[in-house]
Amino acid sequence: MNLVAPTPSPSRHAGIEHVDIGRVRIYLGAKNGKYPDGNQVMVRGTDTLAAFDTPLVANHIGPDFDAAELVVMGHVHEDHMAGLHRLPHAPVHVHQGDLAAVRSWEGLCAAFGTSGAGQAQMLARLQQEFFYAPRPDAIGYDDGAVWELGQARVRAFHMPGHTTGHTVLLVEPEGVAFIGDIDLTGFGPYYGDACSSLRDFRRSLARLPDVPARAWVTSHHRGVYTDRQRFLDDLQAYAAKIDERQARLLALLRNAPMDLAQLVAQRLLYPPGFDAPWVEDAERRTIAQHLQELQAAGRVQVDEAGCYRLG
Ligand SMILES: [Zn+2]
Repeated sequence: MNLVAPTPSPSRHAGIEHVDIGRVRIYLGAKNGKYPDGNQVMVRGTDTLAAFDTPLVANHIGPDFDAAELVVMGHVHEDHMAGLHRLPHAPVHVHQGDLAAVRSWEGLCAAFGTSGAGQAQMLARLQQEFFYAPRPDAIGYDDGAVWELGQARVRAFHMPGHTTGHTVLLVEPEGVAFIGDIDLTGFGPYYGDACSSLRDFRRSLARLPDVPARAWVTSHHRGVYTDRQRFLDDLQAYAAKIDERQARLLALLRNAPMDLAQLVAQRLLYPPGFDAPWVEDAERRTIAQHLQELQAAGRVQVDEAGCYRLG
């Protein structure tokens, strides 16, 4: 069990474990919010009840979620949109970088990088498993945006990389930072979508400790941190996964020059044999970004045939 014990012990509401920190309530999704579920953050201002993202667990909370008057999205992915269909009248705020992705299916496909052939199958899966419904009415926000909820305020810190618009949401005065899919899991950072950026993810990881928070909430798995040192230790281990991937890529190329397809077949993210429709594309985009960095650093060269070797 990877949940870091929060200072206030979790209690239950509608059979779902939750943690309260001042006006912030965190409902823990199944298996601590492991994908496909996630952790639901609610902020009860004296004027406005706000939800951060809407993972699958949102569908089981009841009136505490269904009464939400505002949704602020940390980023747009299917597992963060699974409760939006319950709140057709609540304004949905999304960082400008992810706005097209929440507004339409075409926008989400472009963000994922899902090709035409895979789109119908993907749509059926998202509708079946995530209650997928786009929000053409969603409203864009920028870095530094503030929402006043009444004795509680939310501030946006744009932290791109996972997606273009990925944003950390800080609740004040509690100092609770919702860090979304900078999820500190053992898998490591995910930057395998068409809209992802390894370079941006590195910068966001370096900046995250500067957010003036006293508690940190991940969307998945880790849950709630109230011990800064444990948060920093786990952040460092998480960031180190990027360097581990780079080291593995260099080791593969030291062994034998390879083209991108051959490297994809070797797998950098997922274990060999694990297959899902998105795996090859995510591997290709991830590996390509690492190769680009290594080329820029003069550590890898590519020939006319697209074959990579150590520089
Ligand atoms: Zn995500």
